[in-house]
This record gives sequence, structure tokens and C-alpha cells, in this order.
Amino acid sequence: MQTGVLKLKLRSLNNNKATRLLSLSEIFTVCVRFHWGRIETLKTTNTTVIHRDCYREARELFHLPASTIQQARDKAVAAYRAHLERKKRDRRSNPPTFRRTLPLRLAAENLRIFPDKSVVRITTPDGFLWLPVLIPSCFAERVKLPHGVSELVRKGDDWFLMLAVKSPDVPVPDRERPHFGLDLGLAQLAVLAGPGVAKFFDGKPLRYTRSRYFRYRQALQAKRKVGMVKRSKGREYLWATNHNHKVSREIVDTVAKASGILHVENLTGIRERCKGTAKINRMLSGWTFAQLLQFITYKAAACGVTVIAEDPRHTSQRCSRCGHTERGNRTKQAAFACKACGYRLNADLNAARNLAARGACPSGVGGVTPPGRSGAESGEPKVARLSRHRGNRNLASSS
Ligand SMILES: [Zn+2]
Repeated sequence: MQTGVLKLKLRSLNNNKATRLLSLSEIFTVCVRFHWGRIETLKTTNTTVIHRDCYREARELFHLPASTIQQARDKAVAAYRAHLERKKRDRRSNPPTFRRTLPLRLAAENLRIFPDKSVVRITTPDGFLWLPVLIPSCFAERVKLPHGVSELVRKGDDWFLMLAVKSPDVPVPDRERPHFGLDLGLAQLAVLAGPGVAKFFDGKPLRYTRSRYFRYRQALQAKRKVGMVKRSKGREYLWATNHNHKVSREIVDTVAKASGILHVENLTGIRERCKGTAKINRMLSGWTFAQLLQFITYKAAACGVTVIAEDPRHTSQRCSRCGHTERGNRTKQAAFACKACGYRLNADLNAARNLAARGACPSGVGGVTPPGRSGAESGEPKVARLSRHRGNRNLASSS
């Protein structure tokens, strides 16, 4: 199910209706503040605990339908969750104040829309409230879809209904799916590129933790504390595994949201095919990248995202704008500057875009292989499996 929100303007309301609507919004806002206060004391996001603690009291205090009180509780819980999330990133983050009147939330059962009469009916504790609404012809069909939790918002003297509608999923044909490329590296652990997306996953935390553990173990080894060395290795492994879980989750979610196809570097057999590439040697010395790809593969399978393993050769030397491929394009480790068209960008982002471009031109290499080095020595299909990864093997083919 996909949800969309239709913004519908209400026709001007008479005084009585406007007052009733405004007072409902205000009571709802106070109800959210009440729940927020309780949540702050309880320090929980568990709705059952919160419900037990304050539902009865809220029913007595607020003249609102039961489901609207639940919506107020959910709104406060969501705000608390977002606040905790922000606090994790920045300790100084302030809690929300709910000073302004909030939009009135309506559970699906409290709202009914009559398209042919151009009215919406909302349930209030004092009976139904009928509101005239403007339905543009472009929304005429979509307002009939089943709807979810919607909101009534006031802007100046106008009221709007933000109607959440659920439309059944329409499978996107492979040809129209956006292609994403994922470049792995050391300065950036991973760079994800796709239409309108450029995400960088900094390699610094990983490098820092690894070197810290390395130095710690050196010191232990000097004192011949073998048991502690072992335990420290276990802790490092746990830390890095957790880090890979987070990174892979974000990558897969981004691609899944766009119903895209993800192109990753194929690490299998890379040692034979690309002898002596400094980057490859460094990458293979750690297990991190193989594990990251393994996590991405199984998470992608769960979300219905197709992962295609691509031959990573020349992705760092090719210009993602004009296709010109030359070693000199890579001026520094981090910078890419095309000798042919002068395009400049982050080198890892350029590589990720090149990987994404492999999917966009399925006829073959799409200018990735320079003339003279046709890549014939491999003779294998462009699409390979990440065979080293135990998790999931159903990587679909690109055709
Ligand atoms: Zn270029």
C-alpha cells in the first residue's frame, strides 16, 4: 500500500462551524500537551503503558471522541520519539513546546467524505459536523480510495483537509526503475548515488575505532595478556558489525523507497582479475566490505530490492558525465576532474554514479571499458553473484 495526501480546501465556513472546528483543534492541542507531559515523566514510548497511565483521566478531562484522544497520544509519542532521535545526535536539542494550535487529527472512522455532495462529515462528541469541501476534478477519483489518519489544518481564515489516501501498489516495471550505484572505499565507507540521491557514509568512525583497538591490543600483547586481546577482538567485531547493520539499513531503505535497483561492486574473484590495485588490496585485507555487502544483500531481499553485482573496473577512472576514461582523470585520492569535459566532483561519488549508469545502459559496458583493454580476459557475464556471501543468493540478473 502506498499512501498519498490530498490537500483539499474547505469552502468558507459559517461562524458556528468555524468556532466548533477551532475549539476542537484547541482541545486536541491541549490533549497532546497533556500526553507529552505524562510521557516525559514516564520516559517511555510504549503506547500500552501510556494508555494505562492516562487514558481514563484524558477521557474525563477532554471533550473529544475516544479515537481523537488516541490520536493525541500517538502524536505525543511520535514527537517524543523524534525528540529522542534528535537528542542522540545533539545533546542540546530542545523538546517541542506545542505552543501553537496543532492541526486536528482525525482517525479514519471519524471522517467520511461524500464526493458527489462535496462535503466531509467528521465525528465530534456533540454529533456530526458537516463541512463543505472543494474537490478538484483531478482528485475526483482518488478521494474515493480508502483513507487513513487525516488532518484539518487552519491557515489564516482558511481550513484545509489533508486527506491521506491509500492506493494499492502498482508494480513498477524493471525498465522504469531508477538505478542506484554503491561505491565502497576507505575515505568514504560507502557512497550511494541515484536519481536525486548522493549519500556519503564516512569511513572515519570505522578507521578510528579500528586503530584504537589495534593500539590497545599492541599494548596488551606487550604484557602478554592473551585473554584480554581475544576479548578486545570480539568487542571490535561487535562494534563494526553493528555499524555495518546501520549503514546497510539506510542504503537499502533509500533504494527501496524509490523502488530502485542497486548496483554494487562485485568483490568475488576480484583478486585475480585486478591484480595489484591498491584499493582492492586494502579492501580485501578486512572483512568489513564483504560483510557490508552481505547485509545489504539480505536486507534488500526482504524489501524486494534487486541487487546486481558489477565488475568494478574503471569505475574510478571514468567520467560519469561524458564517459571519458583515463587514469589521469583522478587527480587526487578524493577528487575527480575529467580531462575531456572538465567535470569535477568527489571521486567516490563519480564511481558510484558510474555503477548506477551500468544499469541505465544494459547493452553492455557503456563506455566503462576503454578501447584496447576490452576486458575480454574475463569472458564472464557482466552480472555475477556475490557467491561468497552465505545469506541470500537470489540476486536477479540485469536483463
Ligand atoms: Zn567528462
